Amino acid sequence: MTYDPENVFAKILRSEIPCDRVYEDDWALAFKDINPQAPVHILVVPKGEYVSSDDFAANASDAEIAGFFRAIGEIARLSDIVNSGYRILANHGRDGHQEVPHFHIHIFGGRDLGGMIKRAST
Ligand code: 5GP
Repeated sequence: MTYDPENVFAKILRSEIPCDRVYEDDWALAFKDINPQAPVHILVVPKGEYVSSDDFAANASDAEIAGFFRAIGEIARLSDIVNSGYRILANHGRDGHQEVPHFHIHIFGGRDLGGMIKRAST
């Protein structure tokens, strides 16, 4: 899948549309999800143009991957959810219901998040 520079997170990275920013460094931008599913629901996006977790894992440099995951740790600490616990999640593709085609990780926290996956059937 080719990267679409008009996706909504690309526009947020270029400051063309606003976001409620919580963290930024050389590797990542983090902002609150517009439709939060938990008291803490933060989206973390890499600065580079990667469509999905598959694209990021295959094509990002070691420095980009390390910087991105260190940012996630830092954001969780800044959000004060390390002791209470949190969940990180990346949706990929059709079955994962990925909506925005710029790789991102969700950080959820601030309440008991329940079981891992709700499903209609196996
Ligand atoms: P996905 O299903 O791709 O993993 O999740 C995309 C997430 O992006 C959704 O949770 C949705 O609420 C969030 N989202 C979509 N558009 C915007 C936006 O313009 N601003 C922010 N902050 N979040 C958005």
